[in-house]
Amino acid sequence: MKSDIAFVHAPSIYDFRRRPLKEGPIGDVVPSTPLFEMYPVGFVSMLNHALEEGFSGRISNLAVLMLSDDTFDVERYLKGVDADIYGIDLHWLPHVHGAFNVAKVIKRIHPDKKVVFGGFSSSYFAEEILAANEAVDYVLAGDLLEKQMNSLIDAVQRESNLEGVPNLVYRRNGRIVRNPPLKDPDPTAAEFINYQILVKNSIKYHDVKGHLPYYSWITNPTGMTLVQHGCQLNCGFCGGSNFAYKNHYNYISPLRRDPSRVAEEIEVVKETINSPVFIAGDLNLMGEKYYTTLFEEIKNRGIDLPLLTEYFAPPGEDYFHTFSKYVPQFMCEISPDSSNQKIRSETGRYYSNSELEKSIDTARKYGSRKFDVYFSIGLPLQRKSDVLDDTDYLEKLIASHG
Ligand code: SF4
Repeated sequence: MKSDIAFVHAPSIYDFRRRPLKEGPIGDVVPSTPLFEMYPVGFVSMLNHALEEGFSGRISNLAVLMLSDDTFDVERYLKGVDADIYGIDLHWLPHVHGAFNVAKVIKRIHPDKKVVFGGFSSSYFAEEILAANEAVDYVLAGDLLEKQMNSLIDAVQRESNLEGVPNLVYRRNGRIVRNPPLKDPDPTAAEFINYQILVKNSIKYHDVKGHLPYYSWITNPTGMTLVQHGCQLNCGFCGGSNFAYKNHYNYISPLRRDPSRVAEEIEVVKETINSPVFIAGDLNLMGEKYYTTLFEEIKNRGIDLPLLTEYFAPPGEDYFHTFSKYVPQFMCEISPDSSNQKIRSETGRYYSNSELEKSIDTARKYGSRKFDVYFSIGLPLQRKSDVLDDTDYLEKLIASHG
């Protein structure tokens, strides 16, 4: 069945089934496998907005399809995905190999159709991508691109001038041109992470696996929403930091989402898949007014789903007290990255181990069902001995606060 747009998600390494891979460690509790088969929620929101405006569209999670079946034939499948535009996410850099290889395959199979890249890495490297990759026609640079994607579909279908497509980077007369970003007084208005459309689309296109957000979603589903775009902090390694976001993707960072909209998305998860929901963004850092409004919205809508929440700094008593009043089941996670506070502050996080431990204890006191704590390797100043110290610290942390 033909569609106006197909959002295609590649595995991090395109030919992972044929080459011996030494995968780097990622947390066991992260739903995605090392092939990073989880597509960005922006796919769901852009698809939703395209459908709202009368376009047709689908998601093709190639990574899940390839992981599910060793004999899955990518080229045969893509021949059956007939669209005017193929949108490929290159958000974080691990997807470089997969994204470019899938673009080449699509262009070979559908030479007259357009391939557009999007995501933070694509936005940052847009000119370089277009200069070196004939298989990529456009990059939609920036964040919150629902309206811009619809403008692009419209322009491609009408074969009209691309100058009117905000945020678009493209080739014109042998040059690479970057259109100005959309001047939008309400940039989050068109964003809606609507899981209902995944269910409907799976049936419409007879493609359940192609729409799955990640490999184990059927057995271990989790919905997702986010409270902000960009971030309050400036961790040195982060392409989505406050500095990176406002200098490369949008002019405001963090850009807060309407709490009613967030609650509405959680309600859709309840009605559609009735699963836990991961809320991206630090609710505590959003401030008391914001999080209290959101919690009230959640309670007033009768939502009792477990909420998985992330924190960029350890929250205190007031926050957990309020959270537990409104939300019956919640879990927490935080990434101190290193148990060595000097290394941690070098990455841009300025809290102590005792503040972390106190927060874990407080969360438990108020009913948090678990508190996941993430550590990383490859940090500035970090040596092998520091990583080994982390494992000792983790054992102590679990023994005394687990
Ligand atoms: S807290 Fe997370 S999102 Fe924010 S800058 Fe640090 S790593 Fe990036």
